[in-house]
Amino acid sequence: MTIPPAPSGPSSAQAPPRGGDAAPAALLDLSPGELSDLLRGWGEPEYRAEQVARWALRGGATDFSEMTDLPQGLRDRLGGSYSLAPPRVALETEADGGETSKLLFDLGSGGMVEAVRMAYDPDAAGGARAGRTTVCVSTQLGCAMACVFCATGLQGLARNLRPAEILAQVLHVHRERRVSNVVFMGMGEPLANYRSTMRAIRWMVAPEGLGLSPRAVTISTVGLTGPLARLAEEGLPLGLAISLHAPDDELRRRLVPTAGRVTIDGLIQAARRYRERTGRRVSFAYALLEGVNDDPEQARRLAGRLRGERAHVNLIPYNPVAGLGLRRPRRGRVRAFQRELQSAGIAATVRVERGAQIAAACGQLRTDAARDGGPGKGRPAGGPGG
Ligand code: SF4
Repeated sequence: MTIPPAPSGPSSAQAPPRGGDAAPAALLDLSPGELSDLLRGWGEPEYRAEQVARWALRGGATDFSEMTDLPQGLRDRLGGSYSLAPPRVALETEADGGETSKLLFDLGSGGMVEAVRMAYDPDAAGGARAGRTTVCVSTQLGCAMACVFCATGLQGLARNLRPAEILAQVLHVHRERRVSNVVFMGMGEPLANYRSTMRAIRWMVAPEGLGLSPRAVTISTVGLTGPLARLAEEGLPLGLAISLHAPDDELRRRLVPTAGRVTIDGLIQAARRYRERTGRRVSFAYALLEGVNDDPEQARRLAGRLRGERAHVNLIPYNPVAGLGLRRPRRGRVRAFQRELQSAGIAATVRVERGAQIAAACGQLRTDAARDGGPGKGRPAGGPGG
């Protein structure tokens, strides 16, 4: 099979790895095409790129010395210029009897990002598990979108993650068990770090990479219409979830202050376009906040906007963040909201609770570790989220 093309954008293949005393460049910051170009440029045969990629991704190699079927000279040359070293895991906690693990990665210079491993799919009905291992990954250190209910939004944006830093979160889990699904629902807005997100995804779905089906990779976005239009043209039927959180633009702009001129109608239109281009139904995420957006009347208005769109609404009972003064609605209220949508013909599910405890609360693990005094002192597994 052919390697999917790398997304357009400035190429780093020709950029020499950092020299002198600087840390070697991360090999997986290269796209599949750039790795091929590099090895071809070194006079290596065509099959070499696939061989190296298999070791680095499916093989989970963290050092070129593990690539035992490569000539020693090539291993040395790769190791002299590039690195496969994973970031240090500063904290790992388990919840749900081991079905969920929170991982906190130390990216150096005080930068910490979280990933979550789930032995189920948080968005499948009932949290379908049979053979599933889902990794929820982060794409940015912090986030600039400033959603008022979000722990990560409180931190602001420090920087974008590089492709290798996104992949490292998946590969850490993959070294223990085969990863079946990846969801971009951790810290950061993936479409605001479009290039790194797509590069990481290209490796995830490349046959010589992790070999995941594009359908098993889901991007969750607060809704950036420009990048959404670009995503629809990537030729990859990725899962897509767009966060609405409100039935009207006025309330949405209060909850997502950076929404600017992006309207709910604009997002519905972007979702329609994505569905037409990829054949994938888009789901709309709706974080339910008590007394803010959980009224049955608001559900009816939301249903009115989504009618005829083959939409699916994923309701996420809010996982409170300390100090924000926002609460999770009671279960009966959540069900009432769901029923209103369903009776209007809109498919609506409630995110599985144990998943919500972690996956709906981007940035909370990192925030907890910072508050509790740093890595190694995180709260015990299973504590109330936020
Ligand atoms: S909810 Fe997502 S997009 Fe909004 S601030 Fe948090 S991480 Fe950023």
